[in-house]
Amino acid sequence: MSNDFKNLVDGIRKSKNISKEELYRIFSCNEEEKEYLFSVARSVSDNIFHKEIYLRGLIEFTNYCRNDCYYCGIRCSNKNVERYRLSKEEILECCNIGEKLGFKTFVLQGGEDFSYSDDDMCDIISEIRKNHKECAITLSIGERTRESYKRFFDAGANRYLLRHETANSEHYNKLHPDNLSLENRKRCLYDLKEIGYQVGCGIMVGSPFQTIDNIYEDIEFMKELKPHMIGIGPFISHKDTPFKDEEDGSVDRTLLILSILRIIFPRVLLPATTALGTKDPLGREKGILAGANVLMPNLSPGDVRKKYMLYDGKICTGEEAAECIRCLQTRVEKIGYHVAFVRGDHPDFI
Ligand code: SF4
Repeated sequence: MSNDFKNLVDGIRKSKNISKEELYRIFSCNEEEKEYLFSVARSVSDNIFHKEIYLRGLIEFTNYCRNDCYYCGIRCSNKNVERYRLSKEEILECCNIGEKLGFKTFVLQGGEDFSYSDDDMCDIISEIRKNHKECAITLSIGERTRESYKRFFDAGANRYLLRHETANSEHYNKLHPDNLSLENRKRCLYDLKEIGYQVGCGIMVGSPFQTIDNIYEDIEFMKELKPHMIGIGPFISHKDTPFKDEEDGSVDRTLLILSILRIIFPRVLLPATTALGTKDPLGREKGILAGANVLMPNLSPGDVRKKYMLYDGKICTGEEAAECIRCLQTRVEKIGYHVAFVRGDHPDFI
């Protein structure tokens, strides 16, 4: 491997910064250089997280959504989706099962479904908080007002995931209909941070029309936002969307970006996503070996999992939660890491 590449990676590690030219260079790296980049990202991650992989129990509680994002399988105009909503009792039952299995974080994820009013959400959140005092509650329910976010926080929610998808307005407008704007998406993220949430943003790697310059802009935006979590996975097309014929994102590029993010944001929580595991049977292991430190197994009831298809071919829609954990534990141990049954807060919140 050339000294130039080594110096480039070491420089990024030292400065926690990357130039556009360096990003282009990394995207053209050879196998040996890639392995070096991954090993640096791993060592940054291991120094902070000590080879512990945090688990988040994902509860996909509604696949109704008022929005029509062009890439999403549960977009409102997809009439082929069998829609469902979980009741408060069903959500609480998922949490009970999750806690028995050792989960210390529950992620309530859904489309933008306003049939769960703010009052309903507060009721659900405060009930989970009451029953599971030690657990973290993460929300991933899209764009709402600052007042709503504040009410959810006061009811007991701790974290919020809201992928920004792209930090370039033109690109954003190619992925979303006119009623959605990057400006509002960013407004939500900054509101969430100010309120006190641990905040996660993120992108799909290889989404239609994405350029390397766009990815550079994403990294610049992340440096400004300073998120606590960053969710990235390859774009995977869904057959019932306008992007059905678009090429999927690459696993390789996703891994490169994961490792760059780990090096620039050493303490950030970085999932090895289900999308990564869908594109490559060993995708999640590869993600961890490129610097990821979080896995998000599914805690949703078995009968609804296949209905929450954001993209085609999604894995782990059949297994029971207990099976999922056993499988993930084995996979993680095989590569020299271990699953930690802890809350796994961002180091700033410990
Ligand atoms: S990406 Fe989110 S907001 Fe957009 S259609 Fe899908 S669930 Fe709705």
